[in-house]
Amino acid sequence: MTNTTDAVPAASAPPLDAAPEGTPLYVHLPFCAAKCHYCDFFSVPDEGQDIDGMIAAILVEARHRAPRRPRTVFFGGGTPSLLSAPQLRTLMDGLDELSDWRDSAKEVTAECNPESLDEDKARALLDLGVPRLSIGFQSLHDETLKLFGRVHSVDDSFRAYEAARAAGVRHLNLDMIYAVPDQTAESWETDLSRVLDLGPNHLSAYNLTFEEDTRFKRWLDRGRLEKAPEEVELAMFDATRRLNAEHGLLAYEISNHAAAGEECEHNLNYWRNGAYVGIGPGAVSKVGTARGGNPRGIAPYLRRIQKEGHATQWREDPAPMARLAETWWLGLRLAAGLTAAEARGRAACPAVDESEDPAVAVAEELRGHDLLERTDAGRYRLTARGLPLADGVAKSFLNALDV
Ligand code: SF4
Repeated sequence: MTNTTDAVPAASAPPLDAAPEGTPLYVHLPFCAAKCHYCDFFSVPDEGQDIDGMIAAILVEARHRAPRRPRTVFFGGGTPSLLSAPQLRTLMDGLDELSDWRDSAKEVTAECNPESLDEDKARALLDLGVPRLSIGFQSLHDETLKLFGRVHSVDDSFRAYEAARAAGVRHLNLDMIYAVPDQTAESWETDLSRVLDLGPNHLSAYNLTFEEDTRFKRWLDRGRLEKAPEEVELAMFDATRRLNAEHGLLAYEISNHAAAGEECEHNLNYWRNGAYVGIGPGAVSKVGTARGGNPRGIAPYLRRIQKEGHATQWREDPAPMARLAETWWLGLRLAAGLTAAEARGRAACPAVDESEDPAVAVAEELRGHDLLERTDAGRYRLTARGLPLADGVAKSFLNALDV
């Protein structure tokens, strides 16, 4: 998107405008027990790290940038459950003083990993005002977990789930990864069924991707790992939707399935291209039509916070057509799809007339290829044929509009 964006040089990026009251808040806690080999989120192993210092810095940033009364809050990372209960209290009480989130947020989530989630931790999170937990299961095979570089076992995952339920957690998401090298469609179906039999309220299933600057990408390039064949990945994608539906969880987004009323509101806002404020190292924010982000590094983040109070390292202001293309790209991930008017509104392109909207021409062309359908209410949605090709469909908008 850099060709259509007025990016401000890193050294001089001003903070984004203050976000309006109610804007969703994301808090990035960058520490993990170990770095997973496929992961390109910004996170570092916690050993030797000053977690208390990071909490203090995040609270300084929150004083400058956290929205008042956010309607959703998401503690992600990294592994928030790795923090001790007193550390979580310091962070969450501090944030509450600054933003009043405990009174305002209708959904609050914390990401957890099995090695750091027991009944006491789950109860502590509940007591602190976090009713929704998301646990990274990822695989039901210990050898795959080892290949992933994860530090927990399959038994740990089941124990963590039971611990969360025993503590009284009523909103639970589980994360799984499929299309792992050597995995068959049958074994994925068996594993997914076992996980769904637990009765999670929400399930995220991601196909394994090989991101730049990860160990997995290097292993792929060197031939140590092989991608799953496309037809196997497709079979797994179909099975994922089917099995989730059989267990009462509907695919409201390409990779996300939920029981009625259990959809993740915080993430729905991303797919609707809404505003959000992210704080913590590597966190990204979107306020108005501008985006900005913090450095992906502990030391540069702490330095900026100490010097300036905020840590905005980069800022960009995408051009209107780039905003429109991104809005379609995100919105089509949702089962509900979007109308052209919604897309223009979300992209802040109200001046574009329906008859001149270039995105409509792209959508109609994709409709002609049976990749999109249009409902009577004018909502464009991916067809059964388009669903597994969502990324390619999205690129059509980016290529055609992002000029
Ligand atoms: S635990 Fe999650 S955030 Fe941490 S390295 Fe693994 S995948 Fe990345």
